Amino acid sequence: MARLVMKFGGTSVADIDRIRNVARKVKREVDQGHEVAVVVSAMAGETNRLVDYCRTISPLHDAREYDAVVASGEQVTVGLLAIALQEIGVPARSWLGWQVPIHTNDVHGSARIERIETKEIEKRFRDGMVAVVAGFQGVGPGGRVTTLGRGGSDTSAVALAAALKADRCDIYTDVDGVYTADPRIVTGARKLDRITYEEMLELASLGAKVLQTRSVEMAMNHGVRVQVLSSFADTPGTLVVDEDEIVEQQVVSGVTYARDEAKITLESVADRPGVAAMVFGSLADANINVDMIVQNVSHDDKATDITFTIGKADMERALKVLEGRQEAIGYRRLGADGNVAKVSVVGVGMRSHAGVARTMFRALAEKNINIQVISTSEIKVSVLIAADYTELAVRALHSAFNLDVQ
Ligand code: ASP
Ligand code: MG
Repeated sequence: MARLVMKFGGTSVADIDRIRNVARKVKREVDQGHEVAVVVSAMAGETNRLVDYCRTISPLHDAREYDAVVASGEQVTVGLLAIALQEIGVPARSWLGWQVPIHTNDVHGSARIERIETKEIEKRFRDGMVAVVAGFQGVGPGGRVTTLGRGGSDTSAVALAAALKADRCDIYTDVDGVYTADPRIVTGARKLDRITYEEMLELASLGAKVLQTRSVEMAMNHGVRVQVLSSFADTPGTLVVDEDEIVEQQVVSGVTYARDEAKITLESVADRPGVAAMVFGSLADANINVDMIVQNVSHDDKATDITFTIGKADMERALKVLEGRQEAIGYRRLGADGNVAKVSVVGVGMRSHAGVARTMFRALAEKNINIQVISTSEIKVSVLIAADYTELAVRALHSAFNLDVQ
């Protein structure tokens, strides 16, 4: 017998038929003798609709009331799933965040889970009952409803799995696992049987939107075994596990891309202490997140260029901030380009393997793709290129690192 947390996202519970499908999947695990807690999201599109209501009624709405409104989507789906389970003979009841309770801090709209009390749920497990738990929500220190930020039910599921010491947390979604690259772009992309937490974390934060980044962080910190799989197919998915559970580690596990960044260049910036602090301090004050940064040594000790990337949505704001500080910073010219893409290769194998950057840059050179900015971490190399070459670059890198289906 195992203890499982099963999580179903919005598309998996988008209508009554799909909720019935979810109930059948849950029943299958229960019939195997497993203890099951299910975490669900709101029906697809529902949370967007609720968020819109709040914005329409007041752009400066009270975040505590926003949470009261947007948490309601999950209240509907937990109740419906509990009914669907009862309909097919599976004892089940619904649990809202405050009923479990799932304690969070009081940062309404993006609260963090602090503690989950599992006593009641475990008591019901012993009576053979399935717990259907609302994702995305909890209860704050003052007793008010909180939500965890968009996509937060992944985090609810992993946190519940950690608290229940579950054997596995299965995240059911509309893709059947984690791929070596976006299968819509690379026809030879392969589904990975296993991937490490660290790789998954890089992929999630690079924009491969399979799991909420925070949920991967939490799984890594608590050692929760996570499986990503499809609620529409009957195939095993991808297991997110510790590095030592992967027998044959590839150097590169996946190639990914993001088109949501913009590049900004400050030409001829004074080469003296404090200038970079001023540039990035001004952006930080405006709450603008910076991703890649390059600054070269100057030829003459006098001036240098600084190039960096930010979210495309922040481009106009960043330009305004920097224009306003031209005199203080002392740059000659300000340039911006929103037509760029960040392409990255990720793999824990590159820690112990030389030549990843060479293979990557050579593959791009062979396709005549110019590299504008480079950044690396221990297990990732990213390049910024012209957006028009995104697909070409992803395909070329996928082949260069021998990831194509044989
Ligand atoms: N329903 C919430 C949202 O749409 C939480 C989730 O789906 O994970 O963001
Ligand atoms: Mg989701």
